[in-house]
Amino acid sequence: MTSPAFGNPADALARARELRALIERWNHEYYVLDAPTVPDAEYDRAFRELQALEAEHPDAIAADSPTQRVGAAPAAAFGAVRHAIPMLSLNNAFDDDEVLAFDRRARELLGDLLTGDEPLEYCAELKYDGLALSLRYEQGRLVSAATRGDGATGEDVTANVRTIRAIPLRLQGQAPALLEVRGEALLFRADFERLNARQRAAGEREFVNPRNAAAGSLRQLDPAVTAARPLRFLAYGVGELDGGREPDTHSALLEWLLALGLPVGSQHRVLRGAQALLSFYREIQAQRQALPYEIDGVVYKVNRIAWHETLGFVARAPRFALAHKFPAEEAVTDLLDIEIQVGRTGVLTPVARLRPVFVGGTTVSNATLHNEDEIRRKGLLIGDAVVVRRAGDVIPEVLRPVLERRPAQGSGEFASRLRVFEMPRSCPVCGSAVVREEGEAAWRCVGGLYCSAQRKQALLHFAQRRAMDIEGLGERLVDQLVEGGLVRTPADLYRLDAATLAGLERMGEKSAARLIAAIERSRQTTLERFLVALGIRHVGEEVARQLAAEYHDLDPLIAEDWAARQAAKTEVQKENARRRSRAQELLPVPLEGVGPEITDSLQRFFAEPHNRQVIAELREAGVRWDAPRAAQGALLAGASFVLTGTLPTLSREQAAQRIRSHGGSVSASVSRRTTWVLAGEAAGSKLDKARELGVPVIDEPEFLRMIGEEPE
Ligand code: NAD
Repeated sequence: MTSPAFGNPADALARARELRALIERWNHEYYVLDAPTVPDAEYDRAFRELQALEAEHPDAIAADSPTQRVGAAPAAAFGAVRHAIPMLSLNNAFDDDEVLAFDRRARELLGDLLTGDEPLEYCAELKYDGLALSLRYEQGRLVSAATRGDGATGEDVTANVRTIRAIPLRLQGQAPALLEVRGEALLFRADFERLNARQRAAGEREFVNPRNAAAGSLRQLDPAVTAARPLRFLAYGVGELDGGREPDTHSALLEWLLALGLPVGSQHRVLRGAQALLSFYREIQAQRQALPYEIDGVVYKVNRIAWHETLGFVARAPRFALAHKFPAEEAVTDLLDIEIQVGRTGVLTPVARLRPVFVGGTTVSNATLHNEDEIRRKGLLIGDAVVVRRAGDVIPEVLRPVLERRPAQGSGEFASRLRVFEMPRSCPVCGSAVVREEGEAAWRCVGGLYCSAQRKQALLHFAQRRAMDIEGLGERLVDQLVEGGLVRTPADLYRLDAATLAGLERMGEKSAARLIAAIERSRQTTLERFLVALGIRHVGEEVARQLAAEYHDLDPLIAEDWAARQAAKTEVQKENARRRSRAQELLPVPLEGVGPEITDSLQRFFAEPHNRQVIAELREAGVRWDAPRAAQGALLAGASFVLTGTLPTLSREQAAQRIRSHGGSVSASVSRRTTWVLAGEAAGSKLDKARELGVPVIDEPEFLRMIGEEPE
């Protein structure tokens, strides 16, 4: 046990006083308020330090020290119940040596009662993580129920306990005249999750863990509240007994309780010798996460009940039993910083950087915080003391800040120590813009083609069969190309040569040549495939097909004002609703299956200069596509239009649709590449620009004649 050695007794005394005050406060929070503020490991450490101090300085032991007592005084709101036989705690062991020492001491104390080297027989059980309850049955009927309280006096919770379905109101079979059953009230994990979900939905305080939820549910002034909580009970012992023969062993006692209709845990086992206890401990530890309820260790009890009295008690616990605790799953440490990791798909994940802490059997120094909302929901500030949980193989989690350790808000210390987390506004890896889509928790980097964090994913996606179809460019190769710095963006693929490839792991000359040929072939593609290959969020094959059919080429897609297009679509849909009610012919809806989520994504993707740069590089590298078949030979194939002003009969959307359906494209701004400017009334700067660049300007009737329609 670690305890700072205090050479000076006055220092030891002062430290002991400090620890007592701390433990008293934690006891009150835990036992009376059912709302602990520190993890059990923190409590246990302080408790053991105090025990060690008191052992070194026996004169410093105060009669009222928490090491000499059990739990906390019962709350005044409940009636008091005096326990005829005290309800004690258990001594704890945290390592194998302590278990061996316990076994040695017990054998010594039993002395002659044991023959020779005969191993001592134990009953090993699980240590249920709930709260102790005493149930009093008279003539087989439940007459009262009490909590442990301070061990001598408990709280009367009879009315509440009567509502718990897991507890029989009548015993089965031959019940003794008086039987006081002792056991643990607890909540199963699944019930706890449901209860907390309900609390959340009702905007009420969530419980920290199943134990405190069980205690809070049982210690209610209104039994109706207890009744609504799915409490369970598992019996593990007997207090007062009258009018019946107590079994000789603890294991037989548990069987007897079961026969009387009481719930008893199924995992108890009779074992001989300390080594068997240690194997049991490890076996249960491995099963711990799979159990439907939480346990915080196992309990060993000398099996022969007659020897319990021989072994006796120390201040707060019996000598015939030992709780062997599992390593704590929760610990307190400091949240040093929150860093951002960019995942393969561009998701920005905040990760807690923690002062390394030993918890759940390993040292934890990082934990994912999932997303921005999660940080807000938990109310974490950078610089906080936080509770970290690591249970079994589950990844470590930051549960909550320890608010008690936070300096007062507004104080100088608060300002110098604590910082609110802010999500960066650009990708910390590549500097591209980051966005959070409506209804989504995650922020994403939109520089998918450029961002080094997304490189591997982007390349694999690019090479997919449905995209550029580069056969042979699989995961292992992409890993090598990226890690070797040979490929940064998809455009680099087209600069690879066979000799470089042949030098890679598991690549012979033949396969290198095959891959080069596949890359070569992929240069000639279709617009649809190319769009899929870009990996624009929400743009899969189906959407790409529609976009290709409507736009025919990439430039108009890049130049498109997607917000305006979406607005125009909404107008058509409204007009159609009117027409439908009048049974008139409906207008064709532009980009029917392309919703605002997709157009927003297109807008963001093409607005990111990094992405446009990679696209330009790809084209330079010779990637090309034919205009879709429908557009070939069309009247306006290859022509690029800019619309300006109000046309006499056509809406802008109608004009744009006609242009596209005849193989032309529509851009937002006039450039030298513009073929025609279609101008109407009150045309503005675009008309001036067209004149300046010498781009031909036409009006609506001219346009209609061009596409073979008669102007009105
Ligand atoms: P304990 O919980 O370590 O052990 C004794 C209790 O174990 C018994 O009273 C009984 O209720 C229970 N138990 C479960 N299964 C059992 C079985 N099979 N047989 C017998 N008993 C069984 O001791 P305690 O005195 O109740 O509480 C002390 C512990 O509570 C501390 O070690 C700490 O972990 C926790 N605590 C935490 C805080 C906090 O602020 N976090 C405060 C006070 C106490």
